[in-house]
Amino acid sequence: MRIDIITLFPGMFTGFLDGSLLGAARTAGLVDIRLTDIRDFAEGPHRQVDDRPFGGGPGMLLMPGPVVSCIEHVQGLSQHAGHVVLLTPGGRRLDQSLVEELATRERIVLVCGRYEGFDARVAAAVGAEEVSIGDYVLSGGEVAAMVVVDAVARLIPGVLGDEASALQDSFSGPDRLVEGPQYTRPREFRGLHVPEVLLSGDHRRIEAWRHEQAVAATRRRATIS
Ligand code: SAM
Repeated sequence: MRIDIITLFPGMFTGFLDGSLLGAARTAGLVDIRLTDIRDFAEGPHRQVDDRPFGGGPGMLLMPGPVVSCIEHVQGLSQHAGHVVLLTPGGRRLDQSLVEELATRERIVLVCGRYEGFDARVAAAVGAEEVSIGDYVLSGGEVAAMVVVDAVARLIPGVLGDEASALQDSFSGPDRLVEGPQYTRPREFRGLHVPEVLLSGDHRRIEAWRHEQAVAATRRRATIS
């Protein structure tokens, strides 16, 4: 899979892209991630990328010209133009089913906003999907793009050491249950004991218990969300 990230701050991705699972996946050639700076597509001596909103209001907006030129340039770098995703607070809320959908794509192009966001014509001009990582406002799309990249990359076959682990994670599988409680050694910690069933070696009972716990955890979560 190829993921392109379009941003005014490519330096923010250093460390993130090289670390841990993602770094190993890139080295193994499982995912190809490229960064492109919107500023390289700005025109004029000041390489301006933002301007005041028509109609007034606070802050600056990303101008459509540099953003669209950058997206179209990036799309032309590979034979698959890719699915363009604009990171915006008001977009479709990211959840595991959207992550799964994105992970099936050959190529995605993530576009990070800044300032007060994008001129509305950007999405229309390139046929982009707008995606939000949650109902709060970040100062830029870079952290949101990292969230998308991390969640999508772990679903690419071969990225996780154990393929089964992604299937058992919260929000995965047909019921989209959250994971129930998990335990490791020691068997007793500060007077708190590991449930006896997990030490029984009886795999059927363990599976049934885990399912019950996941259903209960999912119900509990519904009451606090
Ligand atoms: N004026 C915009 C609004 O009220 O919707 C907020 C702009 S925000 C300060 C700047 C950029 O951060 C956005 O263009 C977007 O790329 C990114 N961003 C902020 N919150 C986000 C979220 N919840 N999900 C995805 N991207 C977000």
